[in-house]
Amino acid sequence: MSSPDITYLEREAVAAVMQTSRLSMGPEVEAFEAAVSRYVGIKHAIAVSSGTAGLHLAVRALGITDGDWVITTPFSFAASTNVLLYERAIPVFVDVDPDTGNINTDLMAAAAADLIAGGKKASRWLPRQGKEPTGILRALLPVDVFGQAADYDSIQAISAEHDLRVIEDSCEALGAQYKGRQAGTLGDIGVFAFYPNKQITTAEGAMVVTDRDDVAELIRALRNQGRAPGDKWLDHTHLGYNYRLDEMSAALGRVQMSRLDELLQKRERVAAWYEDRLAEIPGVELLHITPTTSRMSWFVFVVRLEDGIDRKRVAEQLDEQGIPTRPYFTPIHLQRYMTDRFEYQPGDYPVTEDLSRRNLALPFSGILSETQVERVCDCLRRALES
Ligand SMILES: *Cc1c(COP(=O)(O)O)cnc(C)c1O
Repeated sequence: MSSPDITYLEREAVAAVMQTSRLSMGPEVEAFEAAVSRYVGIKHAIAVSSGTAGLHLAVRALGITDGDWVITTPFSFAASTNVLLYERAIPVFVDVDPDTGNINTDLMAAAAADLIAGGKKASRWLPRQGKEPTGILRALLPVDVFGQAADYDSIQAISAEHDLRVIEDSCEALGAQYKGRQAGTLGDIGVFAFYPNKQITTAEGAMVVTDRDDVAELIRALRNQGRAPGDKWLDHTHLGYNYRLDEMSAALGRVQMSRLDELLQKRERVAAWYEDRLAEIPGVELLHITPTTSRMSWFVFVVRLEDGIDRKRVAEQLDEQGIPTRPYFTPIHLQRYMTDRFEYQPGDYPVTEDLSRRNLALPFSGILSETQVERVCDCLRRALES
């Protein structure tokens, strides 16, 4: 489905760390953090062991806890919701924009007003199980889906009106720009992830970014077993975690950051090949890039099959040709642990479910050749014709 783009530069940097005795908490993590904060233009960048860990620390750092409501999207990778459940907060889903798959900010605004009004109005937005309107709306957690930022002018207006914090799940959007502003910097806290299918990789790893000094200090402490500044190795001011990134991974990330523009350009070129060839294939819709996206940071290449096309059959036919595909995403509210706990049902978030039914992610990475893209498109065309 995807493939990291690793050169001798990365291999040498990782090997160099292994010549030293500093395998954790050393200069590579600091250099990697500095590279990310410089690139996105933000005060603090804190390297962590995964995107999920980073989002969890964001939730902890903002004090989101038992029964708090957080408005988020069901059209995402499960981690963006799971980190709320870890702290016993209640994710309040609103549906997404059909063009981009990003959270629908009109619905977000309506939900925020109703949740704050409380009572029956609030109940409308809550899951069947957990309807007691006793929570407090604390935050918004939009996701920048597929490398395109959500509508942050609207999100910032909602957050300002109701004094809500914003966690930006930018795990799929390093390098993307919203009206010229960097994705990840548009809320109180942003998170970029570096699993091997992302725009850059550290194998496992992620970066939390924020301009807020208090939040950065707390996240650094929580990442490192709760050690506050001044704590000795066996002192723990906070209930913390081991969410640190090791030096080898950080060295890999530092070199990948130095190549970020090259990596994004290569991904852009592959996406353009796909767009060219798929434009002529009936039954295939391409991802809509909204005017607010001044830079798309291609994460996956997802096509939307026209209503009535049997996606499973198309996927199987591609698979027989050795071409893997994925149905991006399975709605979070319909995952087994979510229906068990909150009693969600099919039909609760129709736009999300429609996208989930029709979306198909094609093989995508910056190192695909034009010939490979052509072959995928030919096979897709044939599968659709048969
Ligand atoms: C990749 C991703 C994450 C984080 O994933 P990890 O595997 O924990 O690094 C979080 N949210 C979204 C939307 C993602 O795509």
